[in-house]
Amino acid sequence: MSAQVFSIVTHDPAGTDDLARAIAERLKPGDTLLLEGDIGAGKTHFARALIQSLQDSPEDVPSPSFTLIQSYDTRKGELLHADLYRLNSSDEVIELGLVDAFGELICLVEWPDRLGTDRPDMALTLHFRAGETDDARVIEAKSDAPSWTSRLKGLLND
Ligand code: ADP
Ligand code: MG
Repeated sequence: MSAQVFSIVTHDPAGTDDLARAIAERLKPGDTLLLEGDIGAGKTHFARALIQSLQDSPEDVPSPSFTLIQSYDTRKGELLHADLYRLNSSDEVIELGLVDAFGELICLVEWPDRLGTDRPDMALTLHFRAGETDDARVIEAKSDAPSWTSRLKGLLND
């Protein structure tokens, strides 16, 4: 049963950057974040801020919507950023090497519904949606894994 871990409203892109950085600090190799929400909701924006915060010399982080998957070297080891929107079959997820990386590398996955039964049980799901102003986003985190609640406790209060 999926339980809510947190729900926050960010008022502008910089607010989402702060959240991404705070989560990045608490990640460890093998963690997966599943990034849900409509086009333009802020999934790539969040992933970019998270990845760059884990790099001493931040690289460009383009949307992986055409390459489907991008790999980055970070302070917490190799990180994969995937966008499965254009995926044609679930076999392709395996070909991408993403399924093998679950539980080993930090994986950030946009459009995780395409994973079907390969969706990792231990993942934290972040759902992005529009808020009350153009630059506001509601970000809800859920997981089947109870450990996320303690791991993310006091996330934005430190
Ligand atoms: P997605 O990957 O979900 O399709 P993107 O991250 O590519 O969406 O685009 C989100 C857009 O929304 C960006 O242009 C970003 O600057 C803008 N934006 C406005 N407010 C926010 C916010 N609070 N958090 C994240 N992005 C925001
Ligand atoms: Mg995107």
